[in-house]
Amino acid sequence: MTLTLDHEPTAWLRAQLQGIDDAQPGCRHIRTGRGVKLPAVFALWQPGFVTCHPCAAALLPATGSASDRTCDRCHRQCIPALGDPIHPAATQVGAILVLLGLCRQCLRREVPQ
Ligand SMILES: [Zn+2]
Ligand SMILES: [Zn+2]
Repeated sequence: MTLTLDHEPTAWLRAQLQGIDDAQPGCRHIRTGRGVKLPAVFALWQPGFVTCHPCAAALLPATGSASDRTCDRCHRQCIPALGDPIHPAATQVGAILVLLGLCRQCLRREVPQ
């Protein structure tokens, strides 16, 4: 399940999104401008890079690995087996899809219920 953050971003999220301006091309398609499949992807757990959509799969941490369970906001490692899941979330900035994973507490801060 992917939650979409469609409200006014928090100061934290705005600061992360500013990193897009300094991000390097993360795949040869973005680097060369040839064969780019949009939306481009900026993942908050790999904030230095923007890749095209198909190449973003390479940015994903291995399922169940420590980085797969680490909250991008507070850097806490969630323990899904103890009812403490990580929540995949996404927001969009222009043609760039921004992916992030949040613990329950941080999700509440970013997506008021
Ligand atoms: Zn690519
Ligand atoms: Zn968190």
